Amino acid sequence: MKIVIAQTAGFCMGVRRAVEMVLDATKKYSSPIYTYGPLIHNPQVLEILNEKGIRILEEIPSKGFGTVLIRAHGIPPDKYEQLKEAGFNVIDATCPRVIKVQTIIKNLARKGYASIIVGDRDHAEVIGLLGYAGEKKMVIGSLKQLETIPPFEKAIIVAQTTQNKQFFEEVKAWFKNNRPEYLVFDTICGSTEKRQNEVKRLAQIVDAIIVVGGYTSGNTQRLYEIAKRSGKPSFYVENESQLDLPSLYHAKSIGITAGASTPNWGIRRIFQTLETMPLEKDKPLSKFFFSFLRLLLFSSTYLAIGAGCICYAAAKLQGIQNFIPYSLIAYFYVQSMHIFNNLTGRRADRYNDPDKALFYASNKPILSALASVTGIAGLVLAWFSGFIVFLLFLLMSIIGLLYNIRIMPGGFRGIKSERIKDIPASKTLLVAFAWAIATSFFAPLSVHGHLTLSSIVVFFWSGGLVFSRTAFFDIMDMHGDRMVGKETLPIALGEKLTMKILKIFSVLLAILLIASSWLNIIPGAGYALAICPLFFILLLFSYEKGYIIPGLRLEFLVESLFVATGIITGIWAFFHLG
Ligand code: SF4
Repeated sequence: MKIVIAQTAGFCMGVRRAVEMVLDATKKYSSPIYTYGPLIHNPQVLEILNEKGIRILEEIPSKGFGTVLIRAHGIPPDKYEQLKEAGFNVIDATCPRVIKVQTIIKNLARKGYASIIVGDRDHAEVIGLLGYAGEKKMVIGSLKQLETIPPFEKAIIVAQTTQNKQFFEEVKAWFKNNRPEYLVFDTICGSTEKRQNEVKRLAQIVDAIIVVGGYTSGNTQRLYEIAKRSGKPSFYVENESQLDLPSLYHAKSIGITAGASTPNWGIRRIFQTLETMPLEKDKPLSKFFFSFLRLLLFSSTYLAIGAGCICYAAAKLQGIQNFIPYSLIAYFYVQSMHIFNNLTGRRADRYNDPDKALFYASNKPILSALASVTGIAGLVLAWFSGFIVFLLFLLMSIIGLLYNIRIMPGGFRGIKSERIKDIPASKTLLVAFAWAIATSFFAPLSVHGHLTLSSIVVFFWSGGLVFSRTAFFDIMDMHGDRMVGKETLPIALGEKLTMKILKIFSVLLAILLIASSWLNIIPGAGYALAICPLFFILLLFSYEKGYIIPGLRLEFLVESLFVATGIITGIWAFFHLG
């Protein structure tokens, strides 16, 4: 079964901006923090905000204190003034595109124009827009209402930013024929239009469509209407538990789209449920294979095998023949640290990967035992590999164990970070640094007692590969990480810049390997290993184009890059010795 996720599915610019502003407000301002009305039409996001202590202010009191955030839909100007007068610190998160419509209405209302707004009378955005329209105003929600428009001398027509494009076109055509003197402003947001066009295109290539989003979200409702009108079986769900799986069993391809207020983890949860659906039906062998893969990935076993493979390649690149103890140390270190951090920092997985969160919650004792056993095994092997290796292993393990743990309650002298994970981009950089040491320095330090130029090259190559992998997964987890306050590189720099950095970085890694091989700093295997960063660039482009979708298969593909380093080196070593 093929699953296609619409490229436009999920948070639009305005919603993302408002969510980020409210999450930032929790760091900048002291409680209480409110949103004036529900921030977005998504019950799961609202639940998380509630857990974070962000409350919804429904009525403006005569006196109040704290910070109030105005949501992306905007509010009427008199409400803004009331909030200020009540004593609140007001932060305006109105979407810039909504502000543009408010400005059009405000400027022309001053010149005596009546405002005709095409939209839902009760929608928060429309209520806000009406506040700028002065005395002469009207909301049009159906073609029938057009006949009831009073004969305004001059008027403007604008649309609610998330209005159905086709309906607005029909309204425009009516005005052209009946009141051509009125000024029409096409204020439908580009994001809404693209989303609606994409669902129409999607309907042509799939057998069924799933629309994900809050039931009270107007733009999601319109996407569902468009999907239904296409004639393809269409389903409107808020979360994966509402999926009618038996109705989807026979679909060979399913399209997923989502409203502007649906976080990407909400979409991913739907995808993950659909991904495993055919296996539930009648493919026991595939189901077994999938469960085995899930176990390897969730328990970080496959990742740890990848670490062992990188270590093997790193040892060969440094001319060290006996790689086994160091590959084992790298394996033990990676498995122990990753399981431990998954156990102590599971909150983000609740959103990003609920299946994984459930796996950790249900297998906590056995996973804790596995993390301890592999950690101790690594420590013992490191001890037998020399004092410096042991010391480095111990230090890296302590930092790894402290990563999620509150070490400075309440921050320290103005530093807001209470845990290492609170330091911006700490996860992405620390994981790469620790892996690079474990995979490239232990062998030369143990065998030669010192590092060489090839060790430095291999350190950057190995750290670079891990950095790219971690940052790539961080991009997919951005919404969930944001919700729980994880400070990853994409959160600090944004998705686009991180993607750009990863592409440039991968090219540099390939150049580093090729140049180092050419200069005889490392053996000729470096030429072949340059394939890995280049393949990673291909993955990035495929992800951007929507050819590959976050899920277990993608995770397996990315982790396989590490295993590939071992295979490539093994083939090279075989022919080289031969
Ligand atoms: S749909 Fe468009 S106008 Fe509305 S909040 Fe999103 S970006 Fe802004």
